[in-house]
Amino acid sequence: MSPPSLIDTHPNLSDTAPVALSYELFPPRSPAAAETLWTTIRELETTEPDYVSVTYGASGSNRDTAVELINRLLLETTLRPLAHLTCVGNTPQELAGIIGELLDTGVRGILALRGDLPKDGGEPAPGALRYAQDLIELVRRVEQRRSALLCAGKIAVGVAAYPTRHPESPSEEHDVEVLLAKQRSGADFAITQVFFRAEQYADLLTRARRAGVTIPIIPGVMPLTSLRRLKRLGELAGVEPAPELIERLAAADSDLDRLHIGVNATVDLANAALEAGAPGIHLYTFNEHQSALEVLDKLALPRRTHSSSGRNIAARQLAG
Ligand code: FAD
Repeated sequence: MSPPSLIDTHPNLSDTAPVALSYELFPPRSPAAAETLWTTIRELETTEPDYVSVTYGASGSNRDTAVELINRLLLETTLRPLAHLTCVGNTPQELAGIIGELLDTGVRGILALRGDLPKDGGEPAPGALRYAQDLIELVRRVEQRRSALLCAGKIAVGVAAYPTRHPESPSEEHDVEVLLAKQRSGADFAITQVFFRAEQYADLLTRARRAGVTIPIIPGVMPLTSLRRLKRLGELAGVEPAPELIERLAAADSDLDRLHIGVNATVDLANAALEAGAPGIHLYTFNEHQSALEVLDKLALPRRTHSSSGRNIAARQLAG
């Protein structure tokens, strides 16, 4: 029998670790969308998430709006942004510049992604970063050059993980090998692509741990309330939504009925993921707060309690 680990025997570490809560937002595409987004941000802020992630358009198409949103989150809210960054379509020099810009604004979390390949195909430019793994290494190089500036907080680098096979990957085993390679290159945590069956997440955890992946793998959970979105995402990410859920949503008598069905299905999925060992829940909000808040309301997440920090007070003063 192996001796108990320090974590098991240390009195202050033996409690259940708090579960992380985070949301995904995307930069608004119009002034009207920005207004709705800011209502959502204020509603989500009341739930004191650990961080909110901000997506980055394919090939950096929305770079300015993404950076602007991140800046505003840092200046005007108590929220901690996790900036998505994709390497497709940008040179390493451009990416190093963007990483530096993000760090200068105060960002300390980057989700390093490859991004979806352009539809017209074509070979990447010579010297271009090919995989998310290359981007992690670039982030770590930029971080190293600024290590003296980062004494009060290093960068947390996250990556994507896939409960069902990535559409370009030969197998789920290959996906886990890629995740392990990303961990070796310096990834601190992973957030999963959407999935519709808890076993898919549980299987990924088992396969990843068996292969030597030790970083937290946080399930990305989408509120299952919109039939149109479920079908669209199924096509885009190559993930099949459960046919029985589609049928139940389609047969709902009213929007309210559909919301109840979708929220209950999402809560069941998130609870099953937590039971399988999920260290947190990352909610894909689609910039809407209603479903996300209803899901959160019904989830009994063991969260840490936050106290009013200097940062909260500063944000309130700015807002006031
Ligand atoms: P990679 O890990 O580089 O993998 C891409 C493909 O290459 C996979 O098939 C993998 O198996 C293969 N591969 C990787 N490394 C190697 C290697 N060393 N040798 C051989 N094959 C390899 N897209 C956006 O455009 N903007 C976003 O903001 C965004 N946010 C996302 C957030 C999350 C949580 C997730 C799960 C996805 C997100 N995406 C986003 C989508 C993502 O960009 C796509 O899924 C993309 O196709 C793959 O990105 P990746 O980072 O997983 O790439």
